[in-house]
Amino acid sequence: MAVSDHVDLPTFMEGVKKRNPYQPEFVQAVQEVAEDIFEFMQDKEEYHSQQILRRIAEPDRVVSFRVCWEDDKGNIRVQRGWRVQNNNAIGPYKGGIRFHPSVTESVLKFLAFEQTFKNALTGLPMGGGKGGSNFNPKGKSVREIMRFCQSFMTELYRHIGADIDVPAGDIGVGGREIGFMFGQYKRITNNFTGVLTGKGLEWGGSLIRTEATGYGAVYFLANMLATRGEDLAGKTAVISGSGNVATHAAEKIVQLGGKVLTLSDSGGYIHDPDGIDQEKIDWVKSHKTHRRGRIEEYVEAYPGASFHAGKTPWGVPCDVALPCATQNELLGDDARLLIANGCKAVAEGANMPTDLDGVHVFKAAKILYAPGKASNAGGVAVSGLEMSQNSERRSWKEEELQQMLKDIMAGIHKSCLAYGDQGGGYIDYVKGANIAGFKKVADAMLAFGVV
Ligand code: NDP
Repeated sequence: MAVSDHVDLPTFMEGVKKRNPYQPEFVQAVQEVAEDIFEFMQDKEEYHSQQILRRIAEPDRVVSFRVCWEDDKGNIRVQRGWRVQNNNAIGPYKGGIRFHPSVTESVLKFLAFEQTFKNALTGLPMGGGKGGSNFNPKGKSVREIMRFCQSFMTELYRHIGADIDVPAGDIGVGGREIGFMFGQYKRITNNFTGVLTGKGLEWGGSLIRTEATGYGAVYFLANMLATRGEDLAGKTAVISGSGNVATHAAEKIVQLGGKVLTLSDSGGYIHDPDGIDQEKIDWVKSHKTHRRGRIEEYVEAYPGASFHAGKTPWGVPCDVALPCATQNELLGDDARLLIANGCKAVAEGANMPTDLDGVHVFKAAKILYAPGKASNAGGVAVSGLEMSQNSERRSWKEEELQQMLKDIMAGIHKSCLAYGDQGGGYIDYVKGANIAGFKKVADAMLAFGVV
């Protein structure tokens, strides 16, 4: 087939939309990747003729199941659970589990698709997957959460395995939920194996897994700033979210001499002009994780701060911004506002927090902008290291792991430069990450033939 006969990008996207009706998040994620890959594939006949992108954009399988559980009042509750196994060309499926009422098949398909490229970028042998449920953990008792996790795993266990698919945490799923799910897996299968990551240190977990996504995002940001001869010392940072990724990103910014001005949750954001230092970050961690509180209560503990209900923090002037809450939380107008206020760099801690309009705004302004698949890969990278430690039945020391995380983030940065350097000092990190991730998966798929 001649190169000129290949379908063009609009025709390809029409097909994706037609085959995935009512799945806007998935279509958006494919579009963002396809924009760069079509350009890259222009003169690469084999990728076209073997329909590689078309195949990556069709999950290997989507498992959907019923999750029944009993609440504390004895009511029977019914939720829907999923596991999307997107692609295992370079290793077992790997990706988190999300419990949030906004979870749909579309959201999990977009996350599993993104995860495929992200995992390839880490340089570790991991395919892409994602799972979750529309279960809302907010307001539930610990016993209700335990019963839900057990019921979820009672179905999920038959689809996963240490060399098949290794889930981890995500929104609404932290160490406690991983513990409940691992306990149930072990009980059903009588098999103590590294089937989940993000485990407790006493039962196969890895040091620095909890910190890895947030820390890694800031390491990536520091790498980007270094290309312009700058660092984080003295820089102001606006961060969204107040969960695992946001609080650890804030912690690393502070350690590297920056000043964090905001954090948020789904109720709004807090702005602390004095800076959110380590003591305040510890308060937020404990408040959100252990007390399950709301970010608005921060202003009672620290009256110098203000709370802005129902708003996102992108209007607060800053040098760097880190969206670390959820998808599509930073829109085109937010991106324009950030740039107008002098923001120099954006590193995504969350997955696809910037909508397509926002991505185009950042690219057109040629600021330092890292997509989540590059900048938030530190978490899954340390999960990959947890898998290695489990296979070897050993634990690496904290310093060794910290160094490996730094090296992996620097390696991802280097891969982005290889394919994203546009000359004149501008690096298109979106393009660099998309092409570097795609190429690794695509070349493995070519080796396997038509499967
Ligand atoms: P957590 O559950 O620990 O925290 C999520 C935070 O985001 C909370 O502050 C939550 O607020 C807020 N949030 C969630 N949904 C919404 C929404 N619809 N609107 C506004 N705020 C919202 O999750 P993580 O920190 O683990 O994950 C955050 C992001 O990072 C996600 O996109 C996740 O996929 C991504 N990520 C996480 C990794 C990890 O290792 N944990 C790895 C790579 C990516 P509230 O308390 O009000 O719900």
